[in-house]
Amino acid sequence: MSSIADNIGSVTRRIQKATLKAGREPGSVRLLAVSKTRTADDLRAAVAAGQTAFGENYLQEALDKIDALADIAGIDWHFIGPIQSNKTRQIATAFSWVHSVDRLKIARRLNEQRAAELPPLNICLQINVNEEDSKTGCTLEELPDLVQAIGELTNLSLRGLMAIPDPDQPEAELRLSFRRLTRALHDLKAQYPDAGPLDTLSMGMSGDLEVAIAEGATWVRVGTDVFGPRPAKS
Ligand SMILES: *Cc1c(COP(=O)(O)O)cnc(C)c1O
Repeated sequence: MSSIADNIGSVTRRIQKATLKAGREPGSVRLLAVSKTRTADDLRAAVAAGQTAFGENYLQEALDKIDALADIAGIDWHFIGPIQSNKTRQIATAFSWVHSVDRLKIARRLNEQRAAELPPLNICLQINVNEEDSKTGCTLEELPDLVQAIGELTNLSLRGLMAIPDPDQPEAELRLSFRRLTRALHDLKAQYPDAGPLDTLSMGMSGDLEVAIAEGATWVRVGTDVFGPRPAKS
């Protein structure tokens, strides 16, 4: 059994190697440790190994951990799960990033509910890049109108795009899915230069982070290869 610290070391080396291979700037790809289903003690072990950014999918579970780890300064909490509109207030308060915004209604609520004394909430728009009915996310066609509208929301900082392409598709298709996201961000920056920083691509997980980095990822969201296999959800 390898420890969480060892795992973080080896994922960090994979990221560095892929960044170098892609000819990208060292440090331009960051590791988001996806900590859904993990205990507060697992997260403490990751923090002790230098990890500060954690991604959570389930709000109540996340709030419990945020509470349990309140003694540690400098943790960045990222919400990456589906968002119900009656949960936006807690998300807007407890997190510094939300990767899974997929409609204007949610963006508006997060904007209204983000406390004025906090820095703007960093958001990514989740794109349904394979256009599957079963998945959340907006389509590439819906994106320009959404970006234009969200650009007006001053308590949000529109950082970029997120996707969860089907990891079981052949690598060439997976690569095209990532590439589509990179192109979309590039086009949005040209079309809406004032909508936000638009400097972020949240894509790539344990099994496909190298491909995602080759195609431009800036956050890779890694759960299994940091914390070990997840227990089956009951
Ligand atoms: C669980 C999850 C991940 C991490 O997946 P692994 O394959 O365990 O690395 C990444 N992104 C999202 C949105 C997730 O829900």
